[in-house]
Amino acid sequence: MSERTIVIVGAGLGAARAAVNLRKEGFDGRIVMLAEEAELPYERPPLSKEYLRGTKSRDEVRVRPADGWVADRVEILTATRATDIDLRSREVGTDDGRRFGFWRLLLATGAEALPLPLPGADLPGVFTLRTVDDADAIRAAALAAGEVTVIGGGWIGAEVAASLRQVDVAVTMVMRGSLPLERVLGPEVGTVYRDLHLAHGVRIVPDARVEAVVGGGAATGVRLADGSTVAALVIVACVGARPRDELARAAGLVVSDGIEVDALLRTSDPDVFAIGDVAAQWHPLLDARVRIEHWDTARRHGIAVAKSMLDRGAPFRKAPYFYSDQYDLDMEYVGHPARWDRLVFRGDPAAGSFCAFWLDGSRVAAGLNARVPGVSPVIAKLVESEVEVDPAALADPDLPLESLLPSDT
Ligand SMILES: Cc1cc2nc3c(=O)[nH]c(=O)nc-3n(C[C@H](O)[C@H](O)[C@H](O)COP(=O)(O)OP(=O)(O)OC[C@H]3O[C@@H](n4cnc5c(N)ncnc54)[C@H](O)[C@@H]3O)c2cc1C
Repeated sequence: MSERTIVIVGAGLGAARAAVNLRKEGFDGRIVMLAEEAELPYERPPLSKEYLRGTKSRDEVRVRPADGWVADRVEILTATRATDIDLRSREVGTDDGRRFGFWRLLLATGAEALPLPLPGADLPGVFTLRTVDDADAIRAAALAAGEVTVIGGGWIGAEVAASLRQVDVAVTMVMRGSLPLERVLGPEVGTVYRDLHLAHGVRIVPDARVEAVVGGGAATGVRLADGSTVAALVIVACVGARPRDELARAAGLVVSDGIEVDALLRTSDPDVFAIGDVAAQWHPLLDARVRIEHWDTARRHGIAVAKSMLDRGAPFRKAPYFYSDQYDLDMEYVGHPARWDRLVFRGDPAAGSFCAFWLDGSRVAAGLNARVPGVSPVIAKLVESEVEVDPAALADPDLPLESLLPSDT
């Protein structure tokens, strides 16, 4: 295999895990990783948590120290963007005019933060959060102004709000829905998060449609559809992300919402693979095509794709896993339900430590634990085994969760 070259486009977590695991799997050829950012691979979750609060440094958010890449002979070309893929000649071009031939190609180009699609969104003082540089800019502006307005009540918006409150910045959260995280977690757990943010002094403006960012030379506020204006010098737009699938689309690969891949993470070209935030995977467990923007999916995809690229892959059917840390509420969530019939709590959310299960019929479609250490693997097994459970048993904190698993797990 030694003369074979694998080109990896992107240098996020997915790319990094793939490169490390290609070596672990014994691939001895050349690995070239093209990194648009000027950074070695780093983790993004701390950008809305410890890094934003200033308790982790750039070095500490790196996937591994620089010498690990040297030891593994991974050629990382930082500040180098892939500009085109030629599937006939099996080459990738870069913005500095070089061309790299490949035996197998991995697209791990991730996603980018959606800008606010509104007038005034380009005014100074308006930020989005995706990169370590974005986090630096937001932290500096928020600390200088002493206040910030977060637009959006999803995961990143809620974490930015929590982290900035923890460094004593006044925070206003403007959101379309009535509760943070309601779209994913539903109203019951959304209420838990709303109460948590209110208890920490966040001002929440619910059911609000932002129409424009207002200001002369820089942002001074956001105007809402009801005609009111929320004063704001620093605005962080946390309104979602879109997949970086433009290269794949231009190359003629099948792309819908992200690059379509099968359960082996192969694109419509059998020598080209895609993983992480950019991949729209046919998921055998969920029986659907899904694009999951989670740290754990990028990580596990990276491990799985190394095997697939070396022709020894297995279908990827792990239940999606996500974690979020806000104030002292650390939570983990497993699942990706398109629908659910009912929610069952185990423990009292008001007590600050609980599990929640989303049931589709009598199957656990998703489960969450908030400050209940160690149960996440059991919840994952409940979801992945698709076992039928008794809701009363699920709700009973005296009954070990393990006892609900099928005997062969
Ligand atoms: C602020 C923040 C907080 C998060 N918190 C959590 C969390 O708490 N829990 C959780 O589960 N998930 C979290 N996530 C999501 C998680 O970080 C992502 O799912 C993960 O980073 C995806 O990894 P990836 O490798 O697919 O893509 P990315 O990390 O996006 O990396 C892709 C890289 O490819 C580069 N690239 C793109 N196009 C090109 C090109 N043409 N040439 C060269 N390079 C290119 C990009 O610049 C980027 O560096 C968070 C994300 C953000 C932004």
